[in-house]
Amino acid sequence: MWILHVAAEVHPLIKTGGLADVVGALPAAQRALGHEVAVLMPGYPAVWKKAGKLEPIDEFDAPGGRRARLLRGKLAGDVDLLVIDQHELYGRPGNPYTDSDGRGWPDNHLRFALLGRVAAWLCRRFPQTEVLHAHDWHAGLAPAYLRADGTRCASCFTIHNLAYQGVYAHWEYAFTGLPEKFYRFDGLEFHGNWSFMKAALSFSDAITTVSPTYAREILRPELGMNLDSVLNYRRADLHGILNGVDYAIWNPATDVALNSGYSADRLAPKAEDKRALQQALGLDVAAERMLVGIVSRLTVQKGLDLVPQAIEGLLAADEAQLVLLGSGAHDLEQAFTELAARQPRNCAVRLGYDEDFAHRIIGGADTILVPSRFEPCGLTQLYGLRYGTLPIVRKTGGLADTVTGYNPKTRGATGFVFETTSVLALQRILKRAIATYRDTPTWQGLMRNAMRRDFGWQRAAQAYVDLYASIAGR
Ligand code: ADP
Repeated sequence: MWILHVAAEVHPLIKTGGLADVVGALPAAQRALGHEVAVLMPGYPAVWKKAGKLEPIDEFDAPGGRRARLLRGKLAGDVDLLVIDQHELYGRPGNPYTDSDGRGWPDNHLRFALLGRVAAWLCRRFPQTEVLHAHDWHAGLAPAYLRADGTRCASCFTIHNLAYQGVYAHWEYAFTGLPEKFYRFDGLEFHGNWSFMKAALSFSDAITTVSPTYAREILRPELGMNLDSVLNYRRADLHGILNGVDYAIWNPATDVALNSGYSADRLAPKAEDKRALQQALGLDVAAERMLVGIVSRLTVQKGLDLVPQAIEGLLAADEAQLVLLGSGAHDLEQAFTELAARQPRNCAVRLGYDEDFAHRIIGGADTILVPSRFEPCGLTQLYGLRYGTLPIVRKTGGLADTVTGYNPKTRGATGFVFETTSVLALQRILKRAIATYRDTPTWQGLMRNAMRRDFGWQRAAQAYVDLYASIAGR
C-alpha cells in the first residue's frame, strides 16, 4: 500500500510527547512490512537541523498570500520524509506549539491548517496514495480537505489525546478555504465554534485511538471531552490499537545512556545503573530503598499532583526515593522542587526535557510511576516494562491494557495497579510496592515477567494496515 502519515512532531526530529515516538516508529514498521510509506510534517528549525539532506520537490501558495516549498528526505527505516518550508509559520525555535512562556501560538490554526491542506494536495498530486493517516488535532483538517477536494484517498485519523482539540472561533474559519457547508453540527462546527478534532472525527473514514480501553472510555461523558456523542455516532468506525515500543531505542541490553547493559537473563548489572543515578543526583546511595522514577509532562492529566503528599512520609522515613524529570505546569514544578528541597537525601527533581536523562531514569529506577487520571496509551510504562523498572499505574486507558497488577495470587504480574485517584490509594500502592521490593525473589520474578512482555510495533503496524485495507477504495 501507499501510505502518507501526517503529524506535527516526529521523533527524532522534534518531540514533546508520545505522539512523536509513535510517528517516529509506526511508519518504519509499516515500511518493514513492505509498504510505501511517507511522513509529512512542518519544517521547524529543529527539523532543518536534524533531517539531513533534503531536496526541494515543489512550491505552492499558502494562506495569507504566502508561498511554501515542499522538500523530501529520508527517515530511518527507508521512510520518505516530506517537510513543509514556510518560514513565517514554522520558523520558530523550541516547542512546536507554544512560545517560551508556554502560551499557544495565536496563529496555530493557520500553521496546522497548512499541514492538512498540503497533505490533501499530496494525495491529489500522487494519486497512488491509498491512505492518508492523520495524527492528533494538528493534522485534523487533512481529512476535511480530502473530502472537499473529492480526492479518492481513504483517511484514517488517530486520537493520541482527545483533550487537545484545536478549537477556534467562527470568524477564524474563512481562511481555511473549506466549504461553508462543512460548518455544521455533523461537520466541524463545535458549540458555536469549530475544531480540528471535530473535523477529523466527522470526515475520516476510520478513527483509531491508541489503546482498546481508551477507545471505550472516550464513549462516555467522563472522558469524552464533549465529543462522546460524536464518537458514539462514529462508533462502528472507531478502533483501539495499542501503541508499540521501538526496541531499537528502548533496550536495556544496548542502551548507550546506561553504564551496564542488562537483560531478563542478566538482571544484576541494573544495580550499577541505580547506584550511578543516585550518585549523579546527590541522593543517598542506598540499594535497599526503592527508587521511584517519573518522566512526564507535568499536567493535571498525569495525576502527579497527588504524588508529593502520598510519598513524602515514605521519603522522610527512608523507605523510598523519588526522581522526577519533567516540565509543564508551574504549580507542579514548584511542588516537586519544594519536596526535593525538604527531602534532599531521597528526592531529586530535574525540570526540563532531556532524552538521555529519561533513559538513565528508566534504566536506574526500580519503578516508574504513572498515576494518570486518564491515559490514552502511555509509553513510559512500556519502557519501564522492558527495563525491569516495574510500572506503578492507575487503572485507566492504555495503562490498564499493558500492566498486570501484582497481588500474591496473580500469575504473570508485571507491576502495580491502583484504581482510585486519591492520595490515600496512591500511598497504599506505593507501600505495597515497597513491601514487595523487600522480597527480592518475588521482585525479580516480576522484573522477568515484565521484561519478557513484547510490545514491539509489528503487531500494531499490521493492525493499521488491515484497517487501511478495509477503507481503501471504499
Ligand atoms: P504523553 O504523550 O501524554 O506526554 P506518553 O507516555 O505517551 O505521554 O509519552 C511521553 C514520551 O515523552 C515518552 O517517550 C517520555 O519518555 C517522553 N518524555 C516526557 N517528558 C520528558 C522529559 N521531561 N524529558 C525527556 N523525555 C520526556
